[in-house]
Amino acid sequence: MQGPAAHPWSGARGCRAFPLRSGLDGVDWVLGAPAVALDRAARIVRDANGRDHQYDALVIATGLSPKPLPIPDHGLGGIRVLRTLEDAVGLREVLTPGTRVVILGSGFIGCEIAATAAHAGAEVSIVTQSRVPLERALGPILGAELLRRHEAHGVRFYCGESLFGVVGDTNVERAILTGGVVLECDVLVVAVGSDPQTSWLQESGLDITDGVLVDSGLRAITTEDDLDRRVVAVGDVSRYVNPLFDSIPRRVEHWNLPTETGKRAGQILAAQLAGDDADALAATPFAPLPSFWSDQYDANLLAFGMTYLADRSELVAGTPDTECVAEYFRGENLVGVCGIGMRSAVQSYRSRFVVPVA
Ligand SMILES: Cc1cc2nc3c(=O)[nH]c(=O)nc-3n(C[C@H](O)[C@H](O)[C@H](O)COP(=O)(O)OP(=O)(O)OC[C@H]3O[C@@H](n4cnc5c(N)ncnc54)[C@H](O)[C@@H]3O)c2cc1C
Repeated sequence: MQGPAAHPWSGARGCRAFPLRSGLDGVDWVLGAPAVALDRAARIVRDANGRDHQYDALVIATGLSPKPLPIPDHGLGGIRVLRTLEDAVGLREVLTPGTRVVILGSGFIGCEIAATAAHAGAEVSIVTQSRVPLERALGPILGAELLRRHEAHGVRFYCGESLFGVVGDTNVERAILTGGVVLECDVLVVAVGSDPQTSWLQESGLDITDGVLVDSGLRAITTEDDLDRRVVAVGDVSRYVNPLFDSIPRRVEHWNLPTETGKRAGQILAAQLAGDDADALAATPFAPLPSFWSDQYDANLLAFGMTYLADRSELVAGTPDTECVAEYFRGENLVGVCGIGMRSAVQSYRSRFVVPVA
């Protein structure tokens, strides 16, 4: 048994660990030995040190890992991703004035890194297949405004482009784009999405097509379409139906969902272990409202819903170059709202997302 001093974040350079709640005192932290296999029949998780961990209930919360560079990098240095605290600390060290930073991808992570790097005085270029940044998540109206704001801070965009190759001696020195443009670079950040961390579940018999498929009680579903009532999956790695939107199971990569799914899974597992009617609890609708925010320069974005399901967006208040609110529709149905500023107006939409009556 190890105490809180061995918490995984305590060793990160220049960072202090978050204080642990007293309720976690009894937790046995098994660090540096990731799970490598799950045997559901024996109810055992095997770790990378070959140690077996017996369970009565298992919570899968292994999140995502960034997609790697989409081309061979020949082992060049200077190529980075951002997921962990270590990644963030390492990136912070190289984002210095004059550093030439090329960012592949213009989603939230790419755009936030661009804003941070520009603020640090780096020379920033974004290479993206989209027409505007955050096009998939926020559509053309807010995307165009974010493009304007980034460009006003000196960020250069190469839209409709992708990476063809990288050149360098030991470190990346140039990024060659598919359109033939060559960008000098000291740091290449790959921000082109993430994959669920499910390789350790390969032999588990669970349905791990794009994350762990679960029912409305967050209980894992097998490839035979059976339910494993002792195994739940929460957070980014979990794929479930949200009846606020439709009946298609999806993973949602927002910060409020690990909490929402964690609470729900905890209640249902507790009922299961206590011999109560967990199935009845799981049959109640699980309809968490996804929310996300992003701070880029002086733009504070706040959104609710699944804006990326929309086929159109509409500006309903304010003007993009100051503050505004945009609504997102799929057909006639509101599927999301996003504001630049105007937080209370955006907050007021929360009650508009309700589960349709069957
Ligand atoms: C750079 C960045 C910025 C973000 N900004 C925002 C934001 O502004 N707003 C927002 O809403 N969301 C944001 N997100 C998304 C948000 O952080 C995630 O939705 C949230 O962290 C998901 O939590 P999780 O617990 O499911 O997964 P994670 O936080 O990824 O945790 C997964 C954990 O599982 C561990 N693990 C993985 N594989 C194994 C294994 N085999 N064995 C044991 N352990 C394993 C990992 O080491 C990790 O500790 C951001 C994400 C990133 C990367």
